[in-house]
Amino acid sequence: MPHRAFIGVGSNLGDRRANVAEALARMAEIPETRVARTSSLYESEPHGVAKNLFVNMVVELETDLSAVDMLSRLADIEDQMGRKRAKPKAKPAPAAKGKAAKAPAKKDVSRLIDLDILFFNTEVVNTPKLRVPHPEIPRRRFVLMPLAEVAPQLVHPETGLTVSKMLATTEDRKRVVLMPPR
Ligand code: ADP
Ligand code: MG
Repeated sequence: MPHRAFIGVGSNLGDRRANVAEALARMAEIPETRVARTSSLYESEPHGVAKNLFVNMVVELETDLSAVDMLSRLADIEDQMGRKRAKPKAKPAPAAKGKAAKAPAKKDVSRLIDLDILFFNTEVVNTPKLRVPHPEIPRRRFVLMPLAEVAPQLVHPETGLTVSKMLATTEDRKRVVLMPPR
């Protein structure tokens, strides 16, 4: 039996729809993986310091890869699509003086593409590199709305709550709207 993974996709820079579409096409090319379902596109108010509205989508994948291998494939796609990683592996640029030397806040920075594993079967993983289910799911309407479209009855393995229930009870008041199809 293949694993069932739900991936949260977000973009708030450049041609956001095109970025999401490209990420989807690239996910469809991951070995031993197929796209089972996709949600509609949603536009959401950013959390934190980012200013641009995000385009969000949730994708259900069926895969024979492990969660860790899936994470690394998703990171490859982010890298190939030109996302600046928070911690570059390559030699860092020489430190500039004063404020300019400060790296942008890791959380909620603008990005061409962000790919998060939301759920991976009913697995619970808590390592520094990978946390599944994604810990922010109950606090993110921009995840819960598209997720409720594709898997309303999916049960959170730690809380026992369905996606529908989490959406109905989330305290997140940020605006999330369904985008018209193009
Ligand atoms: P966020 O998505 O929380 O805004 P980032 O995408 O910049 O932040 O975080 C990337 C890091 O988060 C990766 O290095 C990855 O190892 C880690 N991470 C932990 N759990 C997950 C998960 N479920 N999905 C994706 N990345 C995760
Ligand atoms: Mg991420």
